[in-house]
Amino acid sequence: MVSVHEIVQVALYELPAYVQILMNTKEQKQINTMGHKQHKSVLVVTAHADDHIASAGTIFKLKDQGYEVYELIMTDSSEGRDYRHLNGSYDVSQMREDEFSDASLFLGTKEIYRLGQEDLNLRYSKQLVFQTAHIIRQIRPTVGIIMNNFDWHSDHIASYRIASTAFKIAATGIRPELGDHHRTPMVLAVEGMIPIKPSILVDITNYYDKKIELFKIYESQASSKSLGFHEGLAKVRGYHVRRNGSLLAEAFSTDPTSPIILFDEEL
Ligand SMILES: [Zn+2]
Repeated sequence: MVSVHEIVQVALYELPAYVQILMNTKEQKQINTMGHKQHKSVLVVTAHADDHIASAGTIFKLKDQGYEVYELIMTDSSEGRDYRHLNGSYDVSQMREDEFSDASLFLGTKEIYRLGQEDLNLRYSKQLVFQTAHIIRQIRPTVGIIMNNFDWHSDHIASYRIASTAFKIAATGIRPELGDHHRTPMVLAVEGMIPIKPSILVDITNYYDKKIELFKIYESQASSKSLGFHEGLAKVRGYHVRRNGSLLAEAFSTDPTSPIILFDEEL
């Protein structure tokens, strides 16, 4: 005997997409009017191999909430020396790529996109904006995490500019051959190496240990001084949460040119 459920399923598949969006079922909510699957996902855009540490607590937290994680890394990370062997001769780029690959496994990144630009020479260009926008239109993230415009490293600032522009371009009709337009509802710029005036805090009290475990995979970078920096910053931001039990946090700015869209129906 054919169940009611099966009849509904057959009927749904025969309906055009714009009608299906009206159906109030869990399955149908996963298909929008353009026919794209709507998974909760976060795209992290970084400049160097260990830059995702800054938002790692948030990424682990989002993963626990069912988000898929994607990362786009812009440079070849060829200039970051191993703090233990500052004068040694070795392939920096390969060492950092190995660490990044191991760390990405631990982070559970679903897909990594590498733009392979020269470290310490990342520059804004139309081509990099389109490459990034193309990836945004493919992934169609619900959250974008980019680097901060106010930061210490010139590549971080260039990465912010490219990514910020790309998230906006991805939402427009520019270059339709790069994919169907997609407006990412929330683009956050993570606090980097210089304290920012945050507008968003994420409580990572329960994810801090994993963040540090991730950082320690970067053996060439995880000096006790760097570990102390991350601990100190997380404690300062945890204090700013001002809530019982919230001890450690990560801070973000919003991108004023990509206002956050709130209170949409859950995707
Ligand atoms: Zn960096």
